[in-house]
Amino acid sequence: MKVNSNFLKMPESYLFSEVAARIKAFREANPGKEVIRMDIGDVTLPLPSVVIEEMKQAAADLGESSTFIGYGPEQGHTFLREAIAATDYRSRGIDISETEIFISDGAKSDIGNVGDLFDVDNVIGLANPGYPVYFDANVIDGRKERVVILPCTQATDFKPQLPSEDMATIDVIYLCYPNNPTGVVLTREELQAWVDYAKAHDALIIFDSAYEAYISDENIPRSIYEIPGARKVAIEVRSFSKTAGFTGVRCGYTVVPEDLKKTDTDGNEVSLNKLWRRRQSTKFNGASYIVQRGACALYSPAGRKTIEENVGYYMRNACALRDALQAKGLIVYGGENSPYVWFKAPKGMTSWEAFDFLLEETGVSSTPGVGFGPEGEGWLRLTGFNSYEKTLYAISKINNICLI
Ligand SMILES: *Cc1c(COP(=O)(O)O)cnc(C)c1O
Repeated sequence: MKVNSNFLKMPESYLFSEVAARIKAFREANPGKEVIRMDIGDVTLPLPSVVIEEMKQAAADLGESSTFIGYGPEQGHTFLREAIAATDYRSRGIDISETEIFISDGAKSDIGNVGDLFDVDNVIGLANPGYPVYFDANVIDGRKERVVILPCTQATDFKPQLPSEDMATIDVIYLCYPNNPTGVVLTREELQAWVDYAKAHDALIIFDSAYEAYISDENIPRSIYEIPGARKVAIEVRSFSKTAGFTGVRCGYTVVPEDLKKTDTDGNEVSLNKLWRRRQSTKFNGASYIVQRGACALYSPAGRKTIEENVGYYMRNACALRDALQAKGLIVYGGENSPYVWFKAPKGMTSWEAFDFLLEETGVSSTPGVGFGPEGEGWLRLTGFNSYEKTLYAISKINNICLI
């Protein structure tokens, strides 16, 4: 047996371990000094009580022979798929049906697995900086050499530019808006340009909208299917993690429209919805019944309300961070329609220099932007996921130092 040597081509993933190691060293050198974790990429508010009650009831149902349920449909239970189609799409005038929705154990799995659908020779376009899973999953699938970086810099407001005519045609484009790590969003026109590109070049868009619930600006699209033509070119991935506290419970979903058809190497048209169904029923036996019942409770009025409150809570933190950094004279992105705040390292420092500087001077921990790709060098990410009190405390510490 030989291993899949593509694994050995993956970049070392040391970002979060290195952050942890530096925080540990700081604590040891500064006993009694508090570290304020503004680098957290996990949510902190507990699960909504409607979800807990529904999961308790679901567990009780599994204990009675009259209500016991074993294997469910691989694509997810109808009750949840119908709630998603009705609430997240049709109520907003977006044409998506329950047969186009596939429930999973989270967005990360779907993002990692979606590469099963496309040929190893496709050219992959990745915005940089970006969520590392897009790149790593393509490396495992043997496409490391096929990845084209779409640089997102201050000059482009951290938005990817359409490939120019002399560039290779990109076959699969990963887009994530609101973006992690930059907090940037795309307008309707900007997203339309990508849909048009995909249409013109027979490309596929993988749209990661894990943060759509954070969008408050009505002009910013929450789903790629708000864009005309997107049903023919895009797969959308969503998650209950960042809005409803499901990071540990695990549930998300992927939308693969029936109109999404691509050709095989012989030129025959293939439905990606059928292919994904086949993929899921082969390698996946569905998300947990209890978890799907819990996710369904999020579509009740009480569930909607809790999500709104949670998002509002994290957004208040993110806005406060953005305002404070801007007031210090720093260049700041995000913190609007996104729980992430992305700012330029002070005094021309590198990401890691600024990480150390901020930790030493204030006890505030951040995430170095370079950990999300080379284009993130010189930038830092803070998140709105800590408590409001800790966020204000971090801001008071930042206000006490000179940053320009
Ligand atoms: C957190 C995150 C995910 C993963 O969500 P899960 O459903 O918890 O797997 C996907 N995409 C982005 C951009 C994220 O930040």
